[in-house]
Amino acid sequence: MDTAPTNPSPAGPVTAVIVVAAGSGQRLGYGMPKAKVPLGGDTILTHALRGVAAAGIAQQICVAIPPGDSELQALCEAFTQEIAALHRRTAASGRGVPVPLVTVVDGGASRAESVRAAMAALLPAVDSVLVHDAARALAPESVFHRVVAALGAGAAAVIPVIPVVDTVKTVEATTGDGVALAPEVVTGTAAREFLRAVQTPQGFARDILQRAHEAAAGFDADRAALVTDDAMLVELLGVPVHAVRGASQSLKITTPLDLILAEGLLEGPLGARWVEG
Ligand code: C5P
Repeated sequence: MDTAPTNPSPAGPVTAVIVVAAGSGQRLGYGMPKAKVPLGGDTILTHALRGVAAAGIAQQICVAIPPGDSELQALCEAFTQEIAALHRRTAASGRGVPVPLVTVVDGGASRAESVRAAMAALLPAVDSVLVHDAARALAPESVFHRVVAALGAGAAAVIPVIPVVDTVKTVEATTGDGVALAPEVVTGTAAREFLRAVQTPQGFARDILQRAHEAAAGFDADRAALVTDDAMLVELLGVPVHAVRGASQSLKITTPLDLILAEGLLEGPLGARWVEG
């Protein structure tokens, strides 16, 4: 499904946001793809898409959904109508918000495959790509802006991060006599001051992201299973990945507890959708 953008050729860089929403959401336990799970009277995907639109940085939004999911297809169509209506209302007052082109593609078996499917559907003019997890439905627009600003300043790869509050250890499965004591044994402790928890949207020069994913397309299943974000593929190219400040409300809605937190963020004293964190 495509709708014509009202601002196809801005003077600056042309930015697309890929929203990956093709996951099964098994850990949330709703028995449906996570993108459809109710959140604040809408769905997780609707909140994620509104967040992207509110940031006002995308000329194209490309959404990867589970293949053949007509409900999510309809949801994306409703979102397209919503932003077109918003444009008409704001245009009348002379503050017309730009309307991005919304494109929907079938996602793949892995997150990386979903990203590749979306990349294949980007407009030729796109030169910067942000990849965003629909599961981070409450990411504030300030984070989008920080990522885009770093790209605009010349970074080829940018990720939003937050400090890690827990002490993080590496472990391995216990063997031998230790099995009777505990299932795992510690092999090391990472220096916390150098650790960051990584969020989305992650931003890239399009050609860099393309090269990174072309290399990853050849990974065997074991290696492919270790790919959890796009930046790690860019790191493998030897391209520096820059980090900007993320936000605590960009939490990745994964477990039932995360959903309670997200509902609380929408309803509670932080109610305003785009509160800085
Ligand atoms: O499963 P995981 O936590 O890695 O999912 C992160 C994001 O990637 C989610 O928004 C999910 O919908 C998306 N995803 C996808 N296609 C897959 C698996 C996950 O678009 N095959």
